[in-house]
Amino acid sequence: MAARPLVDSWGRVHDNLRISVTDRCNIRCFYCMPETDVHFVRRSEILDFEEIERFVRIAVTLGIRKLRVTGGEPLVRRDLAVLIRRLSTIPGIEDLALTTNGVLLPQLAAPLYEAGLRRINVHLDTIDRARFLEITRRDEIHKVLAGLEACKQLGYSKIKLNAVAVKHLVEPDIVPLARYARENGFEVRYIEFMPLDAQNLWDRSKVLLADEIIAILGREIAPLVPVPDPDPRAPASEYQFSDGIGRVGFIASVSRPFCLNCNRLRLTADGKLRYCLFAVEEDDVKTLLRSDASDEAIVALVRRNVAGKWEGHEINSTRFVAPPAAHVLDRRLGPA
Ligand code: SAM
Ligand code: SF4
Repeated sequence: MAARPLVDSWGRVHDNLRISVTDRCNIRCFYCMPETDVHFVRRSEILDFEEIERFVRIAVTLGIRKLRVTGGEPLVRRDLAVLIRRLSTIPGIEDLALTTNGVLLPQLAAPLYEAGLRRINVHLDTIDRARFLEITRRDEIHKVLAGLEACKQLGYSKIKLNAVAVKHLVEPDIVPLARYARENGFEVRYIEFMPLDAQNLWDRSKVLLADEIIAILGREIAPLVPVPDPDPRAPASEYQFSDGIGRVGFIASVSRPFCLNCNRLRLTADGKLRYCLFAVEEDDVKTLLRSDASDEAIVALVRRNVAGKWEGHEINSTRFVAPPAAHVLDRRLGPA
């Protein structure tokens, strides 16, 4: 008999698990990491592939159907393709995707494809070399662009570009990035800048809102027409250019929070379960995985975590509490 689905006290059914496989990264985006003195979790504290696979198999019995592998930068995790192969063959997983900064894609796009990966989001805010350096503090854009070309040639489906929308910074990049995406058949996903940065730089005035980007693209390229998403619980609002060439998505977590439809759980690289990106509470899966606990004990922990899920992140309320920088830093997990 199938187990009860993971329903929280607000009636939201959870079928989507995001797995961070490392907190390390090979670049230093200013809205995510500090430039220096980054503290990383000890390697022995990071879940190994057996532990991740066991957790996913248990999660599938509770109705998890979609997985996204993320980080930190997932491609710096050694032998990631081995994990991808193991996850892609778990019965019940209907969708497996990866979010990456793309720097290592020139060498890893093919092994990951070979291992069963088909969907990829590549983080790219600009196609301008100087601006990429300014944002990421690394001169690596040529590798990301080469990696995207490799993904295109290999036949990855629906390649998406994650662009973080920071006001007074990325406005000049919006149109060139959208044109590049249209020419290559990629979809840009603008993610409103969220209070996740390790240096507490965020405030509302620095968020470039989805509506502002829609206006720029409509004026400079072609009007954007909303398209219904087949999955109404997906966080992005989707639009199509009115000339029929290409799509754009917006993860407008600040101006249009989607908490009411949230179907996600997150497993941190060091084995903590979180019901929200902004959660400050978490449940310790790793200790159970490393202490011969039964599957039933792990199921009980997952159910407890989901049952305690809050209504939403309250970024727009005076009650909002940004997770402390050290907390974000320790167990990095991105929004998309
Ligand atoms: N390293 C990978 C990457 O950059 O795609 C995966 C992890 S990263 C934390 C996941 C996503 O989070 C990135 O694609 C980026 O677009 C987004 N992101 C990072 N910092 C953000 C912030 N402060 N606000 C909004 N989105 C952010
Ligand atoms: Fe690294 Fe991704 Fe954070 Fe940029 S957003 S510093 S690529 S983990």
